[in-house]
Amino acid sequence: MERYAHFLKVLNLKATPKRLAVLDILSREKIYLSPEEVWTKLKERFSTVGLPTVYRNLEELADGGIIFKMIHPDRKLYYFFCDNKSHHHHFVCTGCRKVDDLNYCAFEEIEREVSENLNGTVSSHIIQVFGTCRQCSSLNKEGR
Ligand SMILES: [Zn+2]
Ligand SMILES: [Zn+2]
Ligand SMILES: [Zn+2]
Repeated sequence: MERYAHFLKVLNLKATPKRLAVLDILSREKIYLSPEEVWTKLKERFSTVGLPTVYRNLEELADGGIIFKMIHPDRKLYYFFCDNKSHHHHFVCTGCRKVDDLNYCAFEEIEREVSENLNGTVSSHIIQVFGTCRQCSSLNKEGR
């Protein structure tokens, strides 16, 4: 819990027990969770917490860049926390929403394009790769 409190302090967000619990819940799974799923787990600790509180906390944490947010092809929002601090990207399975760290970055070429052809400099980039994980692929094949 200590390390989460540090993240929040940087953002001037109070380390409320609920915020810390939301981060704790997200950090336990390498999967994008829906607000409803976070809510179900949060209710085990705070029985009276409402869904709007969960939405608000997730949005604050996502705005602060502590957690990732994605709009799924099903057009719903999902949230994910990763504490891998080295530069990497995420491979997200759109079937089961599982996330794998992709310790590979193919951005150098784009950076070169920007500096050589646009005379600009790149300060950061966010890339998420979507697809189907091995498990979901084999399930699809079996179903055929
Ligand atoms: Zn999958
Ligand atoms: Zn990661
Ligand atoms: Zn990169």
